[in-house]
Amino acid sequence: MKPLLFALLLAGCPLQDGPDDDDSAALDDDDDAVAADPLPVANLDITAVTANQGVEVVIMEDGDEIPRNASLVANRPLLLRAYVAPAAGYVNTIVLGRLTWDGALHEDSTPITGTSEPGDLDSTLHWVIDAADVRPDSTFSIELLDSRGGDGPTGDSHLWPTSGEADVGAESAGGTLKLVVVPIEYNGDGSGRLPDTSPDQVELFDALLSRVFPTSDISVEVGPTLVWNTPLTNSGDGWEELLNAVLELRNSSNIDVDEYWYGLFKPTETLSDWCSGGCRMGLGFVLDDYNSYWARAGLGTGFDQFQAMGTMAHELGHLHGRYHADCGGASGIDPFYPYDDAALGTWGWDIFGVSGLQDPETTVDMMSYCDPVWVSDYTWQRLHNRMRLVGGSADLQGVPTDYWSAAISGEGRVGKARKLVLPVPPAGRVVETVDVDGAPLRGAFVEAAHTGGGVAIFPRPPSPDSSATVSPR
Ligand SMILES: [Zn+2]
Repeated sequence: MKPLLFALLLAGCPLQDGPDDDDSAALDDDDDAVAADPLPVANLDITAVTANQGVEVVIMEDGDEIPRNASLVANRPLLLRAYVAPAAGYVNTIVLGRLTWDGALHEDSTPITGTSEPGDLDSTLHWVIDAADVRPDSTFSIELLDSRGGDGPTGDSHLWPTSGEADVGAESAGGTLKLVVVPIEYNGDGSGRLPDTSPDQVELFDALLSRVFPTSDISVEVGPTLVWNTPLTNSGDGWEELLNAVLELRNSSNIDVDEYWYGLFKPTETLSDWCSGGCRMGLGFVLDDYNSYWARAGLGTGFDQFQAMGTMAHELGHLHGRYHADCGGASGIDPFYPYDDAALGTWGWDIFGVSGLQDPETTVDMMSYCDPVWVSDYTWQRLHNRMRLVGGSADLQGVPTDYWSAAISGEGRVGKARKLVLPVPPAGRVVETVDVDGAPLRGAFVEAAHTGGGVAIFPRPPSPDSSATVSPR
C-alpha cells in the first residue's frame, strides 16, 4: 500500500487548538445592523438540518426527522447546519439564525441569496457547539429571522422543529480510546534507527485520531522500546513475527484490556528508500470479534510525521474490525462497504477547524488505498459500535492463565512460540496444528490485514515450523 495522506495534511495546514467558527465572511456589517426586533424571515424554508462531528449526520430532511445515517457522540464538538431554500417571494437578506441549544442562545447571521450548498458553509446557517455542551439529553430548536426587519412570517417553515425541541440523540463514545505507541529500535539493517515518538509527534497522533475516530476522549502514550534485530522487507517478510513480538509485549505488561498497542518503526532512512519495488506500510489484525482483546496490537512505519499518522489511523481501523474500502489495489475488501470507489458518502468536517469540510467527491475512506482520505459515515458508525463494545468490556476479569502465541504466515507456517498470560480464554477463528510432541493442538486465530497470515494463541506451545489450518471467515 502507498502512504495514506489525510485531506487536512495535504492542505499543509498547521494544527490549531479548539473548534473554529468563522462566521465573518462576506458580511457587510455597516449596512446590515440587526433590526431591533427582527421578524421571522419570509419565504425561506429550512429544508434540512444536519450535525457533523467528523461525518455529516442528517437529522431532518424536507421537514421530517429521518433515521440517522450515523451516530452522534456526546462530549465531542458538533457543527449544526440548517440548509435553506428560497420560496417564491423571497427577498435576499441577511438571515439571522437563532439556535436554542439546551436553553442557551447561539446566533449566526449570513447573507442568503439562494439554495444552500453542502460544500459552502456560509450558504447555510451554522453553529459550532462545544464538546461539553453535547450531552445525551441535549435538545435544540432553530428559528430564522430577517436581520433587516422583513415582511413578517408566512408560515412556520422558518422554524425547526415547528413546535417544541428536537432531540440531539448523542450517544456515549464508550470510553477513552487508549493507544500505546511502542518505539521499535530497528537493527534489521544494523542501524538501531528509532522512529519519532517525541511529544510533538504524539500530539499529532492524538489530533488525527481525535478527528476521524468517534471518540470523546483519547489517550496516546509512549510505551517501552522494543529492540528488533531481524530484517523486515517492503514486500512483507518478517512483519508477522514483529507484530507477534509487539503483541507479546502488550500481553506481558500489566495493562488495561482495552489498550491498543502499536509498534512504530523506521526500517530505512526515508520513505522513498523504502518504497522501491514494494511498499508495505503497516500491519494490523482485523478483529472481527471485539472479544479478541489480546490481539489489540498493530504495527506501522514512521518515516515522516504525516505518513506515520495516516498509517496508524488505517491500522487502528483494522483493529476495530474494519476491512478495506475498495478503490483498487487492496485485498481483504469489505463486501458491505456501501459506496463505489471507497467514497465517503457524506461530507466530512474537521472538529479542530483547520481544514474545514471534506468533499465526498474528492476524498475517500481511510480504510482504502487511495487518497486523500477522511472517514466515511459507514466506517464512523462501525468504529463507534466497536468502541462502545470495547468500552463496555474494559473491566474484563478472569483467572490469569498461560498461553502461547505464534505468528501464522499466509502459507500456514507456524512461527516462534511466545508465552503470554491472558485473563480469559482468547476468542478468534479456529486454528489447528500440532504441539511439540506431535499431538493435535487447537487454538484461536486472528487474521492480519494485508498478508492473509496472522497470529494464533494456543494452550500449549505449538511445534515451530509446523503447518496450521485456519477455519474460514
Ligand atoms: Zn489495510
